Amino acid sequence: MNKQKILLLVIDGLGDRPDERLNDQTPLEAARTPYLNYMAERGATGLLDTISVGVRPGSDTAHLALLGYDPAKYYSGRGPIEAAGVGLNVGKGDVAFRTNFASILGNGQVVDRRAGRIESSTAFESALNKIKVPGFQFAFKAGCEHRGALVVRGKGVSPEVSSNDPGVEGNKEKEIKPTSSALEAKATAAAVEVYLKQARRVLASHPLNKKRRKQKLPLANTILLRGAGAALEIISFKEKYGLDAACIAGGGLYRGVAKTLGMDLINANGATGGKDSNILAKVNAAKTALARKDFIFIHMKGADEYGHDGDALGKKAFIERVDAAVRELLTLENTVVAVTADHSTPCQLKAHSGDPVPLLLYGKGVRRDCTRKFGERDCAVGGLGRLRGLDLMPELMNISGRAEIYGA
Ligand code: ZN
Ligand code: ZN
Repeated sequence: MNKQKILLLVIDGLGDRPDERLNDQTPLEAARTPYLNYMAERGATGLLDTISVGVRPGSDTAHLALLGYDPAKYYSGRGPIEAAGVGLNVGKGDVAFRTNFASILGNGQVVDRRAGRIESSTAFESALNKIKVPGFQFAFKAGCEHRGALVVRGKGVSPEVSSNDPGVEGNKEKEIKPTSSALEAKATAAAVEVYLKQARRVLASHPLNKKRRKQKLPLANTILLRGAGAALEIISFKEKYGLDAACIAGGGLYRGVAKTLGMDLINANGATGGKDSNILAKVNAAKTALARKDFIFIHMKGADEYGHDGDALGKKAFIERVDAAVRELLTLENTVVAVTADHSTPCQLKAHSGDPVPLLLYGKGVRRDCTRKFGERDCAVGGLGRLRGLDLMPELMNISGRAEIYGA
């Protein structure tokens, strides 16, 4: 059987609900998308519940499921994935957090949970990595803007600890507490508290904060830790599917998922992981990489960000930009293309919802159905029906001629 290559394009938060501002169409339905429609007309569509019906997925669990890894089995918090994404090693027994630099007042009140979306926080790395806590090692690495990751190593480090993030600006920074009665959890929470106390001292006197004070910018004078998790013990994508895979994504989380599964990371020029990302550069990088890879995962973040902002028109325009780049995918040879999302981010909710996402498959061997347009309601009558996220990889393995026979 001829084995085809696979290209998976995930448009983050693509799914939406009919919106008054768009004549009761969704942003995808209202967008002018001739190339996605071309693929829908010649391919097959359906709806996908990335986790299961009615579940509101996080981007992390949804991506694991789309790539065929049951999050119920493998997911242990966002920390280890973010850490892998910024290039921190999370070894067996380590615990990782995702971090935000934030601004606090002397009384512990958090006044800005993102420290004014500080442009870059890498300048803090070396000072923070000098902090010593007896019996433990801490490694910090900055990501985009205020984001980063912290890894804790030591004997009996436990992920069973809470977050210090108050969640709401104006509330006080919380204390990190054990979430179980295990001694390891208590010891870990205490060690992290010691680290944080020193970190706040280091940050207060750091030259970058002195400069920010002069410029009247919010100080990055504490670190909020969330998503504590242990290293993921996971079989690689190559082992699981026999596919040599690469990921093209700007955001740390998506790069982290790919890295955790052993995929190569490809950097595309101007791929920022945001609304302004160079979409065409990513698609072109994917085309080039297909020459030597079996599987390419491209991630586009912008649609989700417009959804969180409640900006239906912005989301529609972003989808049109994606469509313009999708043109490049129409003539790929020997490749099955899948276009879908990790979850819906309806503009009227400004949050992720449990609504299923549209799915499109295009390529040789795809059983063409009657849909002629790529939209939520068109996909609802598509030939692929309604699948779960974990069904996507088996479906792609089958169409690409790579599925093993079950029985004889
Ligand atoms: Zn997402
Ligand atoms: Zn989101």
